[in-house]
Amino acid sequence: MSYPALVEPADELTIDEVRRYSRHLIIPDVGMSGQKRLKNAKVLVIGAGGLGSPALLYLAAAGVGTLGIVEFDEVDESNLQRQVIHGQSDVGRPKAVSAQESIAEVNPLVNVVVHSERLENDNVYDIFDGYDLIVDGTDNFATRYLVNDAAYFKGIPYVWGSIYRFDGQASVFAPSMDDDAPCYRCLYPEPPPPGMVPSCAEGGVLGVLCASIGSIQVNEAIKLLTGIGDPLVGKLMIYDALEMEYRKLKVRKDPSCALCGENPTVTELIDYEYFCGAVSDEAAEAAADATISVTTLEHMLKEREEGSRDFVLVDVREPNEAEINHIPGAVLIPKGDFLNGSALEKLPSDKQVVMHCKTGVRSAETLAIVKGAGYSDAVHVGGGVSAWVNQIDPSQPSY
Ligand SMILES: [Zn+2]
Repeated sequence: MSYPALVEPADELTIDEVRRYSRHLIIPDVGMSGQKRLKNAKVLVIGAGGLGSPALLYLAAAGVGTLGIVEFDEVDESNLQRQVIHGQSDVGRPKAVSAQESIAEVNPLVNVVVHSERLENDNVYDIFDGYDLIVDGTDNFATRYLVNDAAYFKGIPYVWGSIYRFDGQASVFAPSMDDDAPCYRCLYPEPPPPGMVPSCAEGGVLGVLCASIGSIQVNEAIKLLTGIGDPLVGKLMIYDALEMEYRKLKVRKDPSCALCGENPTVTELIDYEYFCGAVSDEAAEAAADATISVTTLEHMLKEREEGSRDFVLVDVREPNEAEINHIPGAVLIPKGDFLNGSALEKLPSDKQVVMHCKTGVRSAETLAIVKGAGYSDAVHVGGGVSAWVNQIDPSQPSY
């Protein structure tokens, strides 16, 4: 199904613009009118990370007149494997500024608006104001639901994408363009249980997957802005990079959707952090009085060395993560072994159990299991090996 263009054409293209966009202008479906629409378009990209990097570069190259960037983070060395809008010399600099400079190099005709803040309930409407379309490149569920709800209340269509390891998904959520169009909540009414779906920081992502999904998002954005083709409204694109397979599923509007359904229960922005929960209730309860700091752990390890204390330190990450960095003296038992029960027989019954993972999310989950099995004095390390590398041993790499 086709939709009317989201944007009216600009009055004219300059000679420079005609030269720059000539390969667009000679495509009959785009032509002068389509390029003038892109020139007039205001697109907001949320995140200048894995998806935002290719999306911003191609939107800029395509001649989108105004590009907004929402990004509060700084460039880290571990970003460069996929966030191609940033370079080596940008490490430590704000991503929004680095992205702005790259865009100026690709296409100086683009007006870039930088929003150097984290998207929150109290700034989302101000930030969204005036944009024709949103491209969502966020990597966490709380922000995804915030974007969906705020875009719905504001009546702004958006292109969504997500990536993990070798798998990607993309869709267009545009209830404002079509009464039958679903929203993100129609597809995913509830966030996954905390700890069930690891983030890219926890589980990894193939760098080039960002380009595959980011380019689908830009493709859909250009179609929506210019009113050509059949956009992914009411359709979910699923990409499997290992099988090199694309599948397109129909997504129907859910009449019982909490946001866009017949009897909505979400009628204003909600507490998204609480809705998505960083850890499960069981893990939060287990960790409440059983979280130690890396400084405490360092002290405990010294005492263990001197013989005045004994405990077992368990790293619940995956073996490939432990190859990157580790806390000395830890034994590796991945979280999966706790879930299937096989880890418990590897634990000594006469020693305190101390657990850590990358940041403290997975170890809080395993802590709940171990405590449930009777290890009442078990603890886990807040901040995990990332905090250890940060505060105790900066000679090791972080990831
Ligand atoms: Zn919905």
